[in-house]
Amino acid sequence: MNKIGLSARPTLELVDDFIERKVRERGEAMDRTGEFDRDLLDEAASLGLTGMLFDDSLKPDLSSMPLAHDMAERLAAVCAPLAMQIGVLRIVGYLLARYATQDVQDRWLKSTTEGKTYGSFALTEPHAGTDLRSLSTVAVRSGDTYLVNGRKCWVGFAPCAAYAIVLCKEGSAARDAKTLALVVDMESPGARGVWGPELSGFRGMPNGELFFENVTVPVENALRVEGFDGMMDGLNMARIEAAAYACGLLRGALEEAVYRASTRKAFGGKIADLPSIQMKLGRMRAAYHTARELTLKACRSYMEGRGGDQDLISIAKMTASDLARLHTDEAMQIFGAAGVTLHSRVERLHRDSKATQIFDGTSEIHETMVGRRLVSAFERHSGKDFIDQLA
Ligand SMILES: Cc1cc2nc3c(=O)[nH]c(=O)nc-3n(C[C@H](O)[C@H](O)[C@H](O)COP(=O)(O)OP(=O)(O)OC[C@H]3O[C@@H](n4cnc5c(N)ncnc54)[C@H](O)[C@@H]3O)c2cc1C
Repeated sequence: MNKIGLSARPTLELVDDFIERKVRERGEAMDRTGEFDRDLLDEAASLGLTGMLFDDSLKPDLSSMPLAHDMAERLAAVCAPLAMQIGVLRIVGYLLARYATQDVQDRWLKSTTEGKTYGSFALTEPHAGTDLRSLSTVAVRSGDTYLVNGRKCWVGFAPCAAYAIVLCKEGSAARDAKTLALVVDMESPGARGVWGPELSGFRGMPNGELFFENVTVPVENALRVEGFDGMMDGLNMARIEAAAYACGLLRGALEEAVYRASTRKAFGGKIADLPSIQMKLGRMRAAYHTARELTLKACRSYMEGRGGDQDLISIAKMTASDLARLHTDEAMQIFGAAGVTLHSRVERLHRDSKATQIFDGTSEIHETMVGRRLVSAFERHSGKDFIDQLA
């Protein structure tokens, strides 16, 4: 196995410099056009951002996860789709490194960690979003291959992925059918990826649909883990990444709101001197702090292994994204009419924050899962000390 040669690991200073040199301006342009800026992702990858969660032998190494999330936060504050592009490549790379056969790793892992090859993480279907058990992409085994039929939607990198890690049912679409995660070569006959509808948030993230019509996939391309479990491991990592993007959107809202409040004059003074504006800023600051702390806690739990603490991950993801939506709205309010100008930064942060409440599990499903586990903790500990049993 070739070494990736990441002895020079990226630093926050390097990322800050990249942001000021390129990302801030390109991020604005990406939002206007909705086009994927490959050159920007190439430079991010050349700085080592796509390879951060791997050691020099391409084994998963999560020790730099908190730093990776600090970087994702800073990038998301100025260009959320770039943060997401990097995040998706880290997640598919992690799944390959952890669960794929050596042959599959040899084919795609190194180039993924280097940002030269794109992989999709494909769960959602037109009739299976939150309710993933109802998915109907089916892989039927015949000798050494699977025959795959189905369709995935809203998938990152779908229009340009070299491969996709696809959650399928084995044999039939029955609700309780066994699942498997197949690494599908998107150049296989019958496989294709296309752009989906134009999105209002994370514009510039190539997102779309994957179609599989009688696609033959070698048996060894299955991840060596039960499909649903393996994808949940990736999804938990994605949820913590999503929380970090939301922290970035809060960071951007704070930067913009404090600047505007301190420079906008009304009634002979700065609007920042008005108690009602200071209260908004105070809440926004508290929200940013809360979201960061929760994200870090979720991240630490993931680093400990076994997929992390599901409660902490859900709480971080839903809280950070809901707070991002609330406070990017407040930031727009502080801007007055200028805040509702299409493609202004606060207006973009607000659109991006809406998407964070939807992908990687909606806020509703996270609150439901946390609530369900709370009730079950109460029942398990006969009511008495159940609060102390929670993380
Ligand atoms: C920018 C973006 C990027 C994405 N990237 C990917 C990707 O790379 N790969 C991928 O596979 N998918 C991706 N998705 C899809 C995303 O994960 C799904 O949109 C999400 O899981 C929700 O599914 P849905 O859109 O079908 O909504 P639905 O499941 O139809 O939900 C509709 C509404 O019903 C609510 N609801 C549904 N069930 C319940 C329940 N049991 N309890 C309470 N409320 C419920 C939901 O909260 C929501 O408000 C992406 C989406 C976006 C917007």
